Amino acid sequence: MTAVSRRAEVVIDLSSVRHNVALLASRAALSGAETMVVVKADGYGHGALPIARAAVEAGATWLGTCSLNEALELRRAGVTARLFSWLDTPDVDFAPGIAEGVDLAASSLGELNRIADAARRAGLPANVHLKIDTGLSRNGCPLADWPVLVAAAAADPRVEVVAIWSHLACADEPRHPSIDAQAKRFQDAYDVARAAGLDPKRHLANSAALLTRPDLHFDLVRPGIAMYGLNPVPQAEDLRPAMTFRSSVVLTKRIAAGESVSYGHTWTAARDTTLALVPVGYADGVPRSLSGRMDVWLGGRRRPVVGRVCMDQLLVDCGDDELEAGAEVVLFGDGAGGGPTAREWADKLGTIDYEIVTAMYRPRVRRTYLEAGS
Ligand SMILES: *Cc1c(COP(=O)(O)O)cnc(C)c1O
Repeated sequence: MTAVSRRAEVVIDLSSVRHNVALLASRAALSGAETMVVVKADGYGHGALPIARAAVEAGATWLGTCSLNEALELRRAGVTARLFSWLDTPDVDFAPGIAEGVDLAASSLGELNRIADAARRAGLPANVHLKIDTGLSRNGCPLADWPVLVAAAAADPRVEVVAIWSHLACADEPRHPSIDAQAKRFQDAYDVARAAGLDPKRHLANSAALLTRPDLHFDLVRPGIAMYGLNPVPQAEDLRPAMTFRSSVVLTKRIAAGESVSYGHTWTAARDTTLALVPVGYADGVPRSLSGRMDVWLGGRRRPVVGRVCMDQLLVDCGDDELEAGAEVVLFGDGAGGGPTAREWADKLGTIDYEIVTAMYRPRVRRTYLEAGS
């Protein structure tokens, strides 16, 4: 491969995704739960369609998206698994979703009525998952309004209540008291639904709760981040990060001791050294704020990025090692062998690895897929 085609590339290993999904689905199956993998935000930056296909091959039976458009793109690309989408603005017409068999979420009477109206126009009942706010205070119906929402849904022949569901605020802190408090409210909401004559499925667990709280698996679990191989909980898990961000060296040069490097001259060579120029920068997703505090994997070891990260370029200090133009540079990957990871970037930046991988969906960054053995 030429250096040009590897200027900025994320490589997604679909065999890692299948491995992760198989692990998650088998944990869920121990509790009798099915697995809905979350592929919102273009599969957390990994590409929703290839991820969806790999996940279904590995045992996922449902796919979850944030918007109806995301779900429809999957359906229209031939994905036949059950689809659930949960957050749209009031201008969105649900009728095409109902026609394509996409399950929809309702958190309020307004949303329920818009779905029921779309069902009438589609000429089909809508599959609805009623969302109860158990304490995240984001979307979801407050407990005080829940009996009215449940009664309206139970009475409307245009909607089929498939499930009740909710989302946890602190599942990534396994002993956080809010988890049990939310579980208790979820049970109360379920009791109300049952008393209204409904027999809904239940789903509550994201990746972290799937990994740490088998008692909260209910009928369906909704892992996102763990499917991509990033572990949201403190305990070790056999997850494989699927995304590698790589580039290649375009130029190497010797500089003399005392020479300074990149904008602002923030770094000065203490001795004669070799620099490798890598043609990626903040326009490709390398945060400028990591200038001088990140490493890359190059020539079989970690090496420091020196000086400022520019829009299109960064520089790596290679000491006296001889490296050639075209050599592969890994910005982050699965960490095997000690290379940098998305988690390491996130820790340095004071964020979570979700944000790092999701931000890699960029027009300038080529996305390619690796299958097992290729
Ligand atoms: C994003 C999301 C998930 C997945 O969360 P992870 O922490 O990535 O496992 C599950 N459910 C809902 C409602 C979400 O928005």
